[in-house]
Order: sequence, then structure tokens, then C-alpha cells
Amino acid sequence: MLGAVPGLLCCPFCRELYTKDDALERCPDCGVDLVPFHEVAPSPETQLEQDYLVEQTPPEWRQLALWDWRRGRGLLPLLALLGLVSYALPWFSQSLPETRVLTGYQLARHHVGWLWGGAVGWFILIPLVITRRSIAAMRGVRMIAAIFASLTATEVLVFVNITASRQNQVIVQFAWEWGIWISCFVSALGACIAVTLGGPLPARQKSDPELPEPTVVTSKGKRPKIPPTLH
Ligand SMILES: [Zn+2]
Repeated sequence: MLGAVPGLLCCPFCRELYTKDDALERCPDCGVDLVPFHEVAPSPETQLEQDYLVEQTPPEWRQLALWDWRRGRGLLPLLALLGLVSYALPWFSQSLPETRVLTGYQLARHHVGWLWGGAVGWFILIPLVITRRSIAAMRGVRMIAAIFASLTATEVLVFVNITASRQNQVIVQFAWEWGIWISCFVSALGACIAVTLGGPLPARQKSDPELPEPTVVTSKGKRPKIPPTLH
């Protein structure tokens, strides 16, 4: 936070702070050139404190890199994109009373509005998964992610069955196109990945200290008290 204060100077050796008003170029005690505060590397104590906080955080609560793609964190958003793209594939073809081929998008837009549900599910899934930044957080959204991922497959199955049962009432000749089955497959696969999102809990290392259960969260949450001295 202090790094944001403009005009704050610091002696890199003794870490004494000076303001611009002090009109000093060198530390009066050490004779070392002063540097802007934000350019000074964290002190060994601060570094120790930070390392300590990371060590005290159970592995499943440690923050992952934004682009860490392991444990389904990359695969599931990728499948979601694929699921969205598959709405542009041919889903349905008709030969009577007229000949036409409809994509999933056209079906949802002009004929079967609730088919949008699957696309919305895919759409929400992407930020939902990307914003889970720890193994525990990923595991926590498994169920909801699986529901979103499986929406397309569920809807397609319902849609195919309803259409089949109505076939006798109207004179139509139609066939399901390959795109609808790809959508269905991607959706089912996505649901399978979603229920294992985050993977198994990481094994505890021997060096991991005994901790009261995870009160430690990522950046905003509570943190353990730091012992008065670190040796
Ligand atoms: Zn100094």
C-alpha cells in the first residue's frame, strides 16, 4: 500500500523512509542513494511473512495462476466454447413439407426458444470456472457446473423425444443432423469433466503444519495470526 504513495523514498540498506520534502539524495546514516519506495524489494521479514502465509494455507486453498489450466480448469471452458460453436452446426433437416436444414441457432431462434437454455449454460460456465482460483473453489462448483454443462444434452434429448411423439400429427419428414449429436456429446462430456472439476484433494505434505480448518481464503479472506517472532 505504501508503494502507492508518491514521492516516498527509501534507503535500500537500512530501509529508513524519507519524503521528497526531506530533500535528501542519500541516506544520512548509510550514505547510500535513496530510491523510490516501490522499487525496493520486500524486506526479508516481509518475504518471510508472505512465505509463512502461503505455507500456512492448506494446499487446496492456495491461489492458482489465472491461466492454470490443470484439473479441468482449461478443459471445461474449452468444451463450453465448443458447445457454443456447435449451435452453428446443422441440427435438423426436413424434406416435407419443404426442404431445409436448420442449425441449432436457427432452431432456438425461430422454433424452439427453450433450446437457448443450453447455450446460456455454456456461456455462464466459462466465467464460473475461470474465476475459481483454488482447488477447493473448483471442487465447490462441481455440481452447478455439471448442471450448466448438461443442459444442452438434456434439452436435446427432450426435444428429440417430443418431436418424435408429435410426428404423427403433422405431415413432416425430417431427420436429425450430425450437429445435434455433437452438441449432445460435448454436453455429456462437459458434465463428466464438471463433476471431477478440481480433481482430488492434494496430499498433505509432512511439512504442512497442523492447522485449524481452512479459515484461510485467497486474497480477501481471513488469514492466520502471525506469530510474534520468526526465526
Ligand atoms: Zn540508510
